[in-house]
Amino acid sequence: MAYACVAPTARIFRPVLVRGPAQSRDVVLTFDDGPTSPFTEQILDILAEHKVPATFFMCGKNVERHPEIARRVVREGHTIGNHTYSHPFLYLRTPQFMANEIDRTQETIERVTGVRPNLFRPPYGARWFSLMPILKARGLKMVMWSAAGYDWMYHTQAIIKATTRGMRSGSVILLHDGHERQPPEKVDRSNTVEALPAIISAATKAGLKFVPIEKFTF
Ligand SMILES: [Zn+2]
Repeated sequence: MAYACVAPTARIFRPVLVRGPAQSRDVVLTFDDGPTSPFTEQILDILAEHKVPATFFMCGKNVERHPEIARRVVREGHTIGNHTYSHPFLYLRTPQFMANEIDRTQETIERVTGVRPNLFRPPYGARWFSLMPILKARGLKMVMWSAAGYDWMYHTQAIIKATTRGMRSGSVILLHDGHERQPPEKVDRSNTVEALPAIISAATKAGLKFVPIEKFTF
């Protein structure tokens, strides 16, 4: 049961987006835990250069720290999802605690960017039974992932290798533009930034196309 609550591809909690259609040749790029400076901005520069859309699952507290970056994400046509306010482990939490983390983030993102998210990704991929009715009541769809760059533990070359190895039609790719536990001044996502152009070009060479997450309906 504990495994089912944290395994990204487990479907015990529904509805959930893990991956898109296998025949589509489409892939979706997602970044968690931001925004942070300068890494989110550097990622946005690379995405703009390659005309690649992405989804950023932001923590409310980081949106408050960097409202200008959150606004830039929306302005440049990317999607923002809710990744809770303070990145707690939601496993075994009370409904009130979870609702507060989610609502505070919805309010923060809407106040700062003018857009109210309709996607949610749980911190650490951890879910709990009472989370689903909370998401449903708010019209939030849960998004997990099917390919990860393991950029929380790897350096540039290994991130490229792990991401491209797991990438196929319909993949939802997980990378990070922030860090859940580090104070903002200690966050270093330069490895992810360095890996991104190679990941984009590997996908293009493999005949895959980056699409907005909205194309993967569920
Ligand atoms: Zn996270």
